[in-house]
Amino acid sequence: MKSYLAPLLLVSLVPCAQAADGPAIDPKLLSEEVKTLSSDAFEGRGPATAGETKTVEYLSAQFKAVGLAPGGDLKNGKREWTQAVPLARSEIQGPIKLELKAGGMEQLLKQGEEIAVRAAQDGSAQVSFEDVPLVFAGYGVKAPERNWDDFKGVDLKGKIAIVLINDPDFETGKGDFGGKAMTYYGRWTYKYEEAARQGAKGLLIVHETAPASYGWATVKNSNTNTMFDIVRDKPAAAHPAFEGWIQRDFAVDLFKKSGLDFDALKKQAQTREFKPVVLKDATLSANYAVNREVITSHNVVGRLEGTKRPDETIVYSGHWDHLGVGAPDAKGDKIYNGAVDNATGIASLIELGRAFAKGPKPERSIVFLAVTAEEKGLLGSEYYSANPLYPLASTVAVLNVDALSPYGPTRNFTTSGSAKQELLDQLVETAKKWNLAYETDPKPEAGHFFRSDHFPFAKRGVPAISYGSGDDWIDGGVEAGKKAEDAYTADRYHQPADEWEASWPFTGLVRDLQVLHAVGADLANSTRWPNWDANSEFRAARDATAAQRK
Ligand SMILES: [Zn+2]
Repeated sequence: MKSYLAPLLLVSLVPCAQAADGPAIDPKLLSEEVKTLSSDAFEGRGPATAGETKTVEYLSAQFKAVGLAPGGDLKNGKREWTQAVPLARSEIQGPIKLELKAGGMEQLLKQGEEIAVRAAQDGSAQVSFEDVPLVFAGYGVKAPERNWDDFKGVDLKGKIAIVLINDPDFETGKGDFGGKAMTYYGRWTYKYEEAARQGAKGLLIVHETAPASYGWATVKNSNTNTMFDIVRDKPAAAHPAFEGWIQRDFAVDLFKKSGLDFDALKKQAQTREFKPVVLKDATLSANYAVNREVITSHNVVGRLEGTKRPDETIVYSGHWDHLGVGAPDAKGDKIYNGAVDNATGIASLIELGRAFAKGPKPERSIVFLAVTAEEKGLLGSEYYSANPLYPLASTVAVLNVDALSPYGPTRNFTTSGSAKQELLDQLVETAKKWNLAYETDPKPEAGHFFRSDHFPFAKRGVPAISYGSGDDWIDGGVEAGKKAEDAYTADRYHQPADEWEASWPFTGLVRDLQVLHAVGADLANSTRWPNWDANSEFRAARDATAAQRK
């Protein structure tokens, strides 16, 4: 009788785990780890601060304790727990002089008002140019797989391009760029990268609230402060010297002074036939100094070596950093604890590591990658992707976790944006076994796919996804789930109040992790290489390395 009763008792104690088999994941451990990582002692986990030292020590010790091997930088033939991530920190120093000449008039521009200029990240210590011509280049898109080229061979050397935000079919709602949903061509990071490839002196993006999905205040705040980038061999290959945004009204007026109609040109830019247009009698001059300094932060890396195909890798990633110590809130709290964002993800990596280390050894290797400086622009993941410890060509998939729910179990899950690929199909199928339905990103126009740590991998062709918790709670439904989500966004997200709570059950996260574990285990014990859909902008980059996956 006893042997019959015991499993029954177990089932009734863990009511949410009955749907499918998975490793036993202890919600109490998740809670403890989130509590520790988000405690004031960790000072909000700012990169290159005392909070980093503590986080790296804690995480290395946890990875070791659960049975992972160090998977970081090689030193004297041995792997360390960390990968050093040099970051360039750039700041405009002293006065900024910006002068526009248009329609026979001269105007001094004010930083943060009609224009927001980013501190140069191309390595310039001084940005200084005079009477540089301005060229409207549509959406600034060159997409060979879509037979689209806004530049049409026009030489942008020594010129500043002005482009629109989002991609050419955002406003029309249908076309070659996914309609309202944003492709990578719509993201501002792409536009600067493309401008650098075109050899432009600079790029100005016209801010419009709907296609950007945020207002001018966000543009102003995030572009006029300190800029961070990974240290690159050739920073000028990724950044033009002059990068910034201009307000829409200012752009309309500027076009008018050059005898052009902004709205008419925008309509043209939504067609393949569009050709760049020089703004007649309009030039820009600039002069300001840029202070550049290199700081070193770290990714933390644990690894389980595959038994049969150790050179093939599945990556679980999540960012360990948060905002550190900053402006106090109304209560005087200055520590941005980042309990949900992203201590939940880091606790997830630890417990996934424990589950894999305890379970049957995987045939392919599994890397647990806790990246730094996500909050500064996905820099730890960008650095790893640009300097991979394990080759990207033989990296099977990346499953990223960021800001997961500490609440109870749900009936659904989501992903940060969605791009068509087999890895997503596999995730959706697997989740069904736990009765979790897939909820697509409700705001695909916001480009969430490009704003999480899986993206630097995706950009280089590696199948990659960021998992997101669902909002349809088994206990309380969508109403309760949405309410909690809205309260988090309003009162806690990126605020000192993102703090651990003793009442959090973490039982939903247990299920989410069982799903993610199943997807990774399935890939780790197969010879499959999931790929992107044929018309995906990431497919070509993956196919280019196909020969290395034989
Ligand atoms: Zn985050």
